[in-house]
Amino acid sequence: MPKFYCDYCDTYLTHDSPSVRKTHCSGRKHKENVKDYYQKWMEEQAQSLIDKTTAAFQQGKIPPTPFSAPPPAGAMIPPPPSLPGPPRPGMMPAPGPPERTVLHANLAACQLLLGQPQLAAQSCDRVLEREPGHLKALYRRGVAQAALGNLEKATADLKKVLAIDPKNRAAQEELGKVVIQGKKQDAGLAQGLRKMFG
Ligand SMILES: [Zn+2]
Repeated sequence: MPKFYCDYCDTYLTHDSPSVRKTHCSGRKHKENVKDYYQKWMEEQAQSLIDKTTAAFQQGKIPPTPFSAPPPAGAMIPPPPSLPGPPRPGMMPAPGPPERTVLHANLAACQLLLGQPQLAAQSCDRVLEREPGHLKALYRRGVAQAALGNLEKATADLKKVLAIDPKNRAAQEELGKVVIQGKKQDAGLAQGLRKMFG
């Protein structure tokens, strides 16, 4: 009788019968291994996505701003050169395919990792123009604004996330940090005022 191999636990079971398998698979250790396995897999997926996006961004495949986005069809006819004309199509955020939203949302995550909160906030703006309720973009812009010291904007974005998804742990934690950061700023300001007038 062939032995049963459990992928998750990386072990062979001594017997292969339905009852042995059932006992093994309902064991605490096996369940933990399954959880670890999927957690690791998810982290690898996320990391590879981030790596790919970062690489594409660094190679210039993803435009860092919407201004280089292709103009919408129908806006291709340039105005006659004699007319000053309305702003050129390139000046307007062009409605693009929905993939762009995903790209900009992922790009924002990479920009945060790269320590570029200003760019991350801009990427999120692009996403939120099209999808005002995009949770990840709202959250990432909140994080970016907090990093830039724009605590009111950060609070507004994070509160929007929590209005849509009240149990969002990441947003709860980030909002907590922003509140603490705000108190420190206030304390610093008060101290400065005391020095000036005290
Ligand atoms: Zn197992």
